[in-house]
Amino acid sequence: MTTDRETDGFETRAIHAGQDPESVTGSVITPIFQTSTYAQPAPGEHTGYEYSRTGNPTRTALQIALAALEGARHGVAFASGLAAEDTVLRSLGAGDHIVLGNDAYGGTFRLISQVITRGGVKWSAADLTDPELLDATWNPATRVVWMETPTNPLLTVFDIEALAEVAHKHGAKLVVDNTFASPYLQQPLSLGADLVIHSTTKYIGGHSDVVGGFVATNDDDWVSDITFLQNAVGAVPGPMDCFLTLRGLKTLGVRMDRHTANAQQIVELLTGHPEVSHVLYPGLEGHPGYDIAERQMKAPGGMVSFRVTAGFEAAKALTTNTRLFTLAESLGGIESLIEHPGVMTHASAAGSPLEVPDDLVRLSVGIETGDDLVADLSDALDQI
Ligand SMILES: *Cc1c(COP(=O)(O)O)cnc(C)c1O
Repeated sequence: MTTDRETDGFETRAIHAGQDPESVTGSVITPIFQTSTYAQPAPGEHTGYEYSRTGNPTRTALQIALAALEGARHGVAFASGLAAEDTVLRSLGAGDHIVLGNDAYGGTFRLISQVITRGGVKWSAADLTDPELLDATWNPATRVVWMETPTNPLLTVFDIEALAEVAHKHGAKLVVDNTFASPYLQQPLSLGADLVIHSTTKYIGGHSDVVGGFVATNDDDWVSDITFLQNAVGAVPGPMDCFLTLRGLKTLGVRMDRHTANAQQIVELLTGHPEVSHVLYPGLEGHPGYDIAERQMKAPGGMVSFRVTAGFEAAKALTTNTRLFTLAESLGGIESLIEHPGVMTHASAAGSPLEVPDDLVRLSVGIETGDDLVADLSDALDQI
């Protein structure tokens, strides 16, 4: 029972790719190979596994499944999204320059601006909504353009195909953090990106019970360096975490459909609500990235941000007024979450080009009953 990447649909690959019944017992579900080492038949000979930093069968299954979902030849699983990012960024050297989209996950910003720079790598932020501007202001030292789309937390949409073209014209690579969309809604490699990053902690794991990261690419040279670096540095996920992520990703398609449907109900509530000054959602016709999202995404997804008319204190208060939306960081799980990016996930970006408005509230809309979520948020807005 092998899957055919070319002809099998997304959900079929999610359930079968890399997940044949286990060869010794027939276990239908990939076992948790909770071992650090493997018996060898003779010195220098092994079964394909020698030591679990280098490789583990549960991790292999996860890597094959995730690569199949991104349409990638290669996949590498990591201990967290940031571990994946760190390992990829270690492939750069002193003097190399990174362009980072000016709206990004706070941890990515912190990693690039405060950690990777210690090795002499340079960076700058850019407004990637204008690919021509990027082209016109190109820095010859730039090796990598690093973007998210939709962005966290402003849900700005960047044109992957156009940005890949600009990066390639200058001999640089395009990295897309695909965490917000998930491979079900958007497949950056097919649009020209060189490498895709995921925090599998979010939609792919999908149940808020495991932290993980993933890299997908068709670039043979880059992946061999990344695999070398991962083994040399050690940012590997444990077998139990791989199992949980593999269990989660099987239902990614059905979950994303429901996340999107519920988000659309929430957007209807927020649009025109007197306590809400702006609704940021790529599925809204007035959103500046609406046309690009239509083209490069299957659906606009489950993340919704909005700005509260009455400002900072009211936005902060709102996040404690809800009953079902839990006040918490993170996103992409089955349960609905609410947060204030300015004082929570994006506090590290204060005073930088990546600072976010202080009246902003971000929702990760879960897969509960949509009407219950609308009623909860409506009551919370009435309490402002
Ligand atoms: C959470 C997140 C990360 C970091 O992932 P971890 O698994 O928390 O290390 C990176 N990018 C985006 C867009 C995220 O939401």
